[in-house]
Amino acid sequence: MKITEHIKNSKGKSRFTFEILPPLKGQSIQSVFDSIDPLMEFNPPFIDVTYHREEFIFKEHQNGLLEKKIVKKRPGTVGICAAIQNKYKVDAVPHVLCGGFTKEETENLLIDLDFLEINNIVALRGDAVKSENYFKPTPGGHSYANELVEQISNLNQGIYLDNEAKNSNPTDFCIGVSGYPEKHMEAPSLESDIHFLKKKIKAGAEYIITQMFFDNNKFFEFEKKCRESGIKVPIIPGLKPISTKKQLNLLPHRFHVDLPEDLIKEVIKCKSNDEIKEVGVEWCIKQSKELMDFNVPFLHYYSMGKPKNIAKIAKSVF
Ligand SMILES: Cc1cc2nc3c(=O)[nH]c(=O)nc-3n(C[C@H](O)[C@H](O)[C@H](O)COP(=O)(O)OP(=O)(O)OC[C@H]3O[C@@H](n4cnc5c(N)ncnc54)[C@H](O)[C@@H]3O)c2cc1C
Repeated sequence: MKITEHIKNSKGKSRFTFEILPPLKGQSIQSVFDSIDPLMEFNPPFIDVTYHREEFIFKEHQNGLLEKKIVKKRPGTVGICAAIQNKYKVDAVPHVLCGGFTKEETENLLIDLDFLEINNIVALRGDAVKSENYFKPTPGGHSYANELVEQISNLNQGIYLDNEAKNSNPTDFCIGVSGYPEKHMEAPSLESDIHFLKKKIKAGAEYIITQMFFDNNKFFEFEKKCRESGIKVPIIPGLKPISTKKQLNLLPHRFHVDLPEDLIKEVIKCKSNDEIKEVGVEWCIKQSKELMDFNVPFLHYYSMGKPKNIAKIAKSVF
């Protein structure tokens, strides 16, 4: 079922959803199921699976020469989605990136997803590869997510890149895109970011999932600005409970989000990681309940393969 249909069927009740990431190369599918099983009792209508593009690593040889190697540390997004739909009978939503793909490779990936009856996609540009400072479009690929959304929308109308393709079977993808309550790190202002977000909606995106945030006022303000700009599609908040002291620095650095002073003080007071986890869970429960009162369609948790604290939150909220 499409995410938009799940929203309609929920009849205004906020439901529980979550996101997982593929395991490091070499691990079994069982490790994925182990991260999903404890969360199934909360009846998620869908599960997102992130995509991880290639990285460049440099291997030093004995003669001092460096060999550039291209590695994908977390492959398997499409296979995991198919396995989730098969095992749990729940919709799986793969994230599809511009970075690392030519348009033809994207088309082939979309055909695979269509054949596997995976009909929901989150379309993203992706970040720069780890060894580079800025995102460089793959030659023959897309530069921004709105272009990828347009390609998927075209395929939904049976418009293939290869215009020699016979029969032109139209796909039926429901497309989600990202939104940033505290603006995307490269955007000069939130207004500019929302201007481009609107472009993704115009190209065919039907809902928005946000970056994590720790202050609900940031989300409420973002929602208001989106609505004022004419964006009408559902906006799904993304949430993550803090679980280590290191994240006080890591999350702002990695995701360009601010942490509220009260949360920082509570975390600093903690004497162990268990105490920090408790603070993170309580904070996230408070956020979740307030967002529920705001009638968000789903509360989308970034589980990062660690279901224990997410289960604690879900027990208290749903
Ligand atoms: C919910 C969510 C899920 C994510 N999942 C993944 C994942 O699975 N894998 C992964 O690698 N990363 C993921 N990311 C991270 C994401 O790939 C990065 O944040 C990336 O830097 C931007 O992707 P985007 O789709 O938001 O980009 P875009 O929407 O393309 O925006 C990128 C920047 O360019 C600007 N911009 C947009 N369109 C245009 C245009 N046409 N012309 C000029 N400027 C423009 C925007 O304002 C923004 O600053 C996720 C992020 C979120 C919020």
